[in-house]
Amino acid sequence: TIKAGGRNGFAFFNQAMAATADERHRLEVDFREGLARGEFELYYQPLVDAVTQQLRAMEALVRWNHPDKGLIAPDRFIAMAEDTGLVGALGEWILQTACAEAATWPDHVKIAVNISPVQFRKTNLLDVIMCALVDSGLPPERLEIEITERVLLEWQADHLSILHQLKNLGISVALDDFGTGYSSLSYLTTFPFDKLKIDRSFTRDLLARDHCGAIVCAIVNLGRSLDMLTLAEGVESEAQLRMLRAAGVDQVQGYYIGRPAPARDLVFETGRRQQAGARDTDTIRLS
Ligand code: C2E
Ligand code: MG
Ligand code: MG
Ligand code: MG
Repeated sequence: TIKAGGRNGFAFFNQAMAATADERHRLEVDFREGLARGEFELYYQPLVDAVTQQLRAMEALVRWNHPDKGLIAPDRFIAMAEDTGLVGALGEWILQTACAEAATWPDHVKIAVNISPVQFRKTNLLDVIMCALVDSGLPPERLEIEITERVLLEWQADHLSILHQLKNLGISVALDDFGTGYSSLSYLTTFPFDKLKIDRSFTRDLLARDHCGAIVCAIVNLGRSLDMLTLAEGVESEAQLRMLRAAGVDQVQGYYIGRPAPARDLVFETGRRQQAGARDTDTIRLS
């Protein structure tokens, strides 16, 4: 039931995963060992200015190079990592690795790191972030944390205080997948996010459904009044990019701009980091 080469070139094994509790357990064991064996890897995807296409940030997206199953996407293991309590260790590795890598990039490029709600609730997130910054020497202004509405759903005074402390350190905070799930606009007044990442479902339906354009415009206006940047996820075509620009979105991200790629394939044209030897098709050229 292992099927290779999904949309992202991942091996998907949904059926296999759903199959038995036994296999689930097997995967958990694999996961624990995989973490120790260094089977995880970060891919990076560019976030660019919607108009100038200048690179603003790279989002770190974790992958698991499973010895038998191949490259596994995070949707297949983040939930398991949360359930088993391993998300703390994984999250720490992700922050350490992402910050260390970003420290070698040009100064104007931020690193965006996804934080799971469980990481928020169950780990000493502030300490972990501080360590990653100190160890890497990355200035806090270059770190952007992405949280989803799930964090806000379990909103506690604690969470708010952590977010405020992050902001006071100069770290920016983005609200990921905005407009889906448990949306309530009230939390936008509870915490001053730096950025709203408009969920890719809105970008996807932009051309097919009139109301998606209206929603994107509304979010852009909301962002402007609340002094938050807006970014549209999942941009896959020139037509979508044009519409998003017209709507006034600040930043864009998606396969049309650049696919997630491992650190070794990144070339910053204006930067210090010049990687030789990568094939051109595997390389994201970023300026
Ligand atoms: P996300 O944070 O919303 O990340 C964007 C996802 O959309 C990524 O999937 C990315 O590869 C995909 N994507 C980007 N551009 C396009 C596009 O043009 N079209 C389409 N169809 N998809 C696009 P990925 O890497 O599979 O990650 C899925 C989710 O897993 C992420 O959603 C995030 O919630 C979570 N995740 C990924 N990396 C991490 C991590 O390091 N830590 C945590 N806690 N969660 C992570
Ligand atoms: Mg994200
Ligand atoms: Mg997102
Ligand atoms: Mg998303």
